[in-house]
Amino acid sequence: MNFEILVATNNEHKLKEIRQILSPHKITIYGMKDLNIDIGDIEENGKTYFDNALIKALALQKVTKMPIIADDTGLEIAAMDNAPGLYTARFAKEYGGFPSVFNEVFKRIEGKDRSATFVCDIVLVNVEDKPLRFEARIPGHIANEVTHGDGFGYDPIFVCDELSKTYAAMGQEEKNRVSHRGKALNKLLTYLKVSGLIHS
Ligand code: IMP
Repeated sequence: MNFEILVATNNEHKLKEIRQILSPHKITIYGMKDLNIDIGDIEENGKTYFDNALIKALALQKVTKMPIIADDTGLEIAAMDNAPGLYTARFAKEYGGFPSVFNEVFKRIEGKDRSATFVCDIVLVNVEDKPLRFEARIPGHIANEVTHGDGFGYDPIFVCDELSKTYAAMGQEEKNRVSHRGKALNKLLTYLKVSGLIHS
């Protein structure tokens, strides 16, 4: 039987990536919509990515005993004192969403160091007594121009140093191999294998 995980998100892009990475390992991924779960808007007012991921996971823990993962993601741009960081989603909203926010980023870092890091913290609850944490930090930089390709969010402007191209210029499998979410999920997979919860 497949190991089942509920993901604390309604973001279809995230769900697609998580499914692509975990499904080959006999893991069935459910989004909240798949199980008709609606917990309304949750205020992510934590002081760290881990706090925010945990807030989402614990909100869902009230309605189910099945294993739950929640992730929180942030883009830290050196020339912006590591902003938007925890406020990455809010920053995009404030500047008109995607792609409008890219111009704001370009303006703020013009002529400065373009280094940036994509961070992902994943929390797993309902498996052990305490929440488990899987984190990845991906070094890169902000591109000089927007890539018109695939991807979502900041994918068109984040160049991942490992492959020297933007996430948006990568195929989905390529992105999953090198991305913040892909690397954090691989740590989760290692845990699930080592603890005998999956066999692949
Ligand atoms: P959250 O993890 O949903 O809070 O995401 C924070 C912000 O980062 C949102 O604006 C997302 O669009 C963006 N984001 C999350 N994951 C990715 C990704 O894999 N690529 C690009 N942007 C992302």
